[in-house]
Amino acid sequence: MSWKSFPKIELHLHLEGAADPAFIRGLAKEKSIDLQKIFDENGNYKYDGFGEFLSTYEAATQALQSPNDFKRLTQSVLENLAEHNVVYAEAFISPDFCGGRDLGAWREYLAAMQEAHVAGVTLKGIVTCIRHFGPEKARETAKCAAETASDWIVGFGMGGAEDVGRATDFAYAFDIAREAGLRLTSHAGEWGGSQSVWETVNDLKVERIGHGVHSINDLNLVRYLAETGIVLEVNPGSNVALGVFHSFAEHPIAKLRDAGVKVTVSTDDPPFFHTTMTREFEELERAFGWGSDDFKRLNQTALEAAFCDATTKEIISKRLDT
Ligand SMILES: [Zn+2]
Repeated sequence: MSWKSFPKIELHLHLEGAADPAFIRGLAKEKSIDLQKIFDENGNYKYDGFGEFLSTYEAATQALQSPNDFKRLTQSVLENLAEHNVVYAEAFISPDFCGGRDLGAWREYLAAMQEAHVAGVTLKGIVTCIRHFGPEKARETAKCAAETASDWIVGFGMGGAEDVGRATDFAYAFDIAREAGLRLTSHAGEWGGSQSVWETVNDLKVERIGHGVHSINDLNLVRYLAETGIVLEVNPGSNVALGVFHSFAEHPIAKLRDAGVKVTVSTDDPPFFHTTMTREFEELERAFGWGSDDFKRLNQTALEAAFCDATTKEIISKRLDT
């Protein structure tokens, strides 16, 4: 069946990574920026492997130059979410791409993003540092996050190249965010093994892990995640597109869930990976026979793991029931 109208929650979505290629091409044209090299002949984003994906991603952000560009981006992303009946989403947003970690500029970008609105979709922001930009910039990013913590900026996280540095290098940044009351998540166990997940939970004290799929290779870690209730933001389509796993059928999401680990499903950077939340559900149905009860369970886990306040959760809970 089509899962398009089934209500959904998405906890792992990079705002710039959710930009339609046509939207970025349009902005680049307005600003006379030549970004042809990042698109293929069909107009899709072009990259080969994770390293090139990151550079294509960063090149695309060159078209996003002002708070108004980010308002338009947010509006477009909200419309895409609504199309797939995503009723609640948390988006990773980066002061690195919004004014170069200048606090004054960051506030203007944030205000602009919050002007975007689509009825029936609630969006919250998770400020994200970028691992391969290094710990110094991560600290500056965490300060921006701490200064702007609110009912809209609800969390702090880390994305980027997992093989750069160790989790502990970023502990200071995560401490700043934690002290400001922000909830914490970090990418780990996507490219790195279970050791990377262990270091991330121990050194950064996060309550959610972005990806975390390589935890499956370490039974002690699987048990630990299940016992502590640390939630995995799993992005199967992203993993398959980038070659972390060959296919949905080989993806460990079902094994992790059945071992008691709390799993959720998101799209990560949907146009880069030719995916949508609807497609994720369809592929999970095809690979594992998941149906309505499984997807309701995913939603419930995601709702509990969401970083928003209790009042927002009540509103979302009602939307899930309709
Ligand atoms: Zn991600």
